[in-house]
Amino acid sequence: MKNNKTEYDVIIVGGGSNGLSAGCYLGLAGKKVLVLEALDKVGGMASSGYLIPEAPEHLVHPCALDMMSMRVHSHVPKELDLSRHGFEILDLSPGYVYLHPDGSSLIFWRDRLKTADEIRRFSERDAEAFLKFMDLIDLFMDVALPMMRVDPARTNIRTKLRVLGAILKKRKLKPELMALMTGSAHQAARERFEHPVTISAMCALTGLAGDITADGGGIYYALLGFLHRFGVGRVSGGMQRLSNAMQARLEELGGTVKASAPVSEIISEEGVVKGVKLEDGQCFSSSVVIAGCHPKVALEMVSEGEIPSNLLTRVAMAPANAKGTGPLKVDVALSGQISVPRFEAARGDGVDLRRACLLIGTEEAVLENFASSSRGQVPKLPYITMAAPSAVDATQAPEGQEVVYIYPPVMPVNPTDGWDGIRDQVADQVIEQASDYVDGLKDQVIGRRIEAAPDFTARLNTVNGCVVHIDTTTMRSSTMRPAQGLGGDTLPVQGLYLGSAGIHPGGGVNGMAGRLAASRVNRYLAKKAEKKSQ
Ligand SMILES: Cc1cc2nc3c(=O)[nH]c(=O)nc-3n(C[C@H](O)[C@H](O)[C@H](O)COP(=O)(O)OP(=O)(O)OC[C@H]3O[C@@H](n4cnc5c(N)ncnc54)[C@H](O)[C@@H]3O)c2cc1C
Repeated sequence: MKNNKTEYDVIIVGGGSNGLSAGCYLGLAGKKVLVLEALDKVGGMASSGYLIPEAPEHLVHPCALDMMSMRVHSHVPKELDLSRHGFEILDLSPGYVYLHPDGSSLIFWRDRLKTADEIRRFSERDAEAFLKFMDLIDLFMDVALPMMRVDPARTNIRTKLRVLGAILKKRKLKPELMALMTGSAHQAARERFEHPVTISAMCALTGLAGDITADGGGIYYALLGFLHRFGVGRVSGGMQRLSNAMQARLEELGGTVKASAPVSEIISEEGVVKGVKLEDGQCFSSSVVIAGCHPKVALEMVSEGEIPSNLLTRVAMAPANAKGTGPLKVDVALSGQISVPRFEAARGDGVDLRRACLLIGTEEAVLENFASSSRGQVPKLPYITMAAPSAVDATQAPEGQEVVYIYPPVMPVNPTDGWDGIRDQVADQVIEQASDYVDGLKDQVIGRRIEAAPDFTARLNTVNGCVVHIDTTTMRSSTMRPAQGLGGDTLPVQGLYLGSAGIHPGGGVNGMAGRLAASRVNRYLAKKAEKKSQ
């Protein structure tokens, strides 16, 4: 076993967006940081690269594409000064567009009045119901957003008073807010809207966040609030630019990033962290380790016997695509471009839908996708979100060509026949279904790349391919994320901190969990230093 002489204040396992943000915040506080990333580059789910061998100039986003979460928490890139390191957001307008099989479409504009006008084309009553619903979502945002930005393990009296003030101001809406937060996303749409296009658009949007039939899934309408309050963007030059900017900032602050450095053990002795061991046997010492990987993966890496077995069971059973539904990604390099003529002609207003993020899947289809996928069966009509990143940023494909991002979010994690025998066939089915809506997909393919849930699990060392590490539910929020007893600012092993999407405030590319872990570590190190000086 080789022992590295250098002592680090903090070692971070995993160089995803959260591991890197934790590193940057600690670097800003003057700490000596080492980030160890298993893959050959940083980013984790926030990455992009030239991943289709037949198309070496088509930039692929294998996971995250849209910048919504980081616009919600826009203080993160500002505090880290990422624009100085090449990070720039391109505005996406229109952002999300629902396509109905009959050729009609509904755009979620940033301006809620414009979205209401879209809905009015189908139903005057739905348009009014939408504006009323947005008042409720505003209240939800005024409650949820301040709490997302603080450490739930602290008392946060001021923030709680602010939230209470917001609730008191709109107290008439409180019963409706409770109904939204405890009921399902499907129920919330059905309660308010009458037209199939409006209802389907709501289902297709909220299905991106989780099961629309699950109790408590009303919180997925946060997406509607985020879209209308903050808008959507993309990273200029691709998502990797964000992760590279974070790495550059961390190195500027004196931190070290080692890629191709998979950690095999978080070393703990008698309840105290000592450092980490890599798969190749190298050891690095530190009294603090932040796990920027999935919480289950993290706790199972801690030296044997150091984490009580009941907590290992608890984190192993924390929901990660618990219903058996998870992502599929099909990225396609094309020799020409896509177009959306049937829908653009029906609108007749000149809006270029090729640039938007397209939502395909009626209410019935979204429901069928959740039901069959959770039984291990591939849905009949895959519910899809798709986009052409090269339509927004021409640098991402050769001139006149296209790279297309196709993401059916609700596929079986473990289909009864296994993915190995059906991967290509399901990708064909997805492209076939998308081709009913978008022209130019089938006949211009240069190459494609497919990843299903087990592929994400293996490549990113995560659980069930869950894009947010732990499912987004009210029972897994705040200090209960990833599980009661594991979401606070201490763990059974002194000096060990969780710092990924699997803790508060959850998933999405935003760096907030890393920021939270860094603030916990800074407090821990300050207390330790104080004790030492006494
Ligand atoms: C298909 C898909 C689409 C998505 N779309 C969007 C989107 O459009 N917008 C959005 O905001 N979010 C999106 N997300 C979600 C978002 O990408 C994630 O929630 C977020 O990036 C998680 O960041 P993280 O740093 O917490 O974890 P991760 O990105 O999972 O990073 C964890 C890192 O730890 C590393 N690691 C694991 N084990 C070890 C080990 N033993 N040693 C060393 N390193 C290790 C991994 O390699 C990885 O780099 C999407 C995700 C997926 C998969």
